[in-house]
Amino acid sequence: MKIKSCPTCGGRIKIYYDHEVGDEVYCEECEKEFQLMGLNPVILESFDYDEEYYFDEDEY
Ligand SMILES: [Zn+2]
Repeated sequence: MKIKSCPTCGGRIKIYYDHEVGDEVYCEECEKEFQLMGLNPVILESFDYDEEYYFDEDEY
């Protein structure tokens, strides 16, 4: 299990080994939802539009 700290409240977000990319994970403290975008390294994407996003490189 990996632990990420919530960017909003600093709470713990647990990522279990059976989680897969695309799964939703939750902050233990504020119950904020994140989508798991990568596992190695762990990348979390917030569902809120005003939060920081992690984008793959766009091809424009
Ligand atoms: Zn939180």
